[in-house]
Amino acid sequence: MASVSTWTSPEIDARIVALKQTGLSHAQIAREIVAEFRVFTNKNMVLRRARTILGIDRGEKAANERLEAKRKAEKAALEPKAPKTRPMAMPPPTVTLPPLASALVPLPVPPPPAPLGNGKCAFPLWPNGAAPSHEYCSKQTPLGSSWCAECRAVVWHTYRQARAA
Ligand SMILES: [Zn+2]
Repeated sequence: MASVSTWTSPEIDARIVALKQTGLSHAQIAREIVAEFRVFTNKNMVLRRARTILGIDRGEKAANERLEAKRKAEKAALEPKAPKTRPMAMPPPTVTLPPLASALVPLPVPPPPAPLGNGKCAFPLWPNGAAPSHEYCSKQTPLGSSWCAECRAVVWHTYRQARAA
């Protein structure tokens, strides 16, 4: 019985490949090889040799690995994913409330203080430097003036004296 190494050759290898491509079974290929090359071989030897030549083992293994990886990926895609936790740094969603009705109503504006001399002269009647008695001249004043014409003259006279000093 010839050893495996004696029946292989580049010509036989090429013939095995060619016969496989025609769709023959390994048993049929073995018979063809025996008939053509007068070497001993059989179905299992052709099968092993074909796998060695063609790298079918490696190819099938790689194909199976690709298929397995694809199955795992598909299975992982079907499995429910763990709920994503909110990062701690993310602030809670801001809820914007409509402004309160009271905020839309303008606050009541206090009326401006009545100007001294509101029609009445605001010239103080208490002596300069004395405790205020809150008594004022109270004579009729021209519109927009805090003093009557007489007191206004005194105020301005005093003002000019102070500036001249
Ligand atoms: Zn006055």
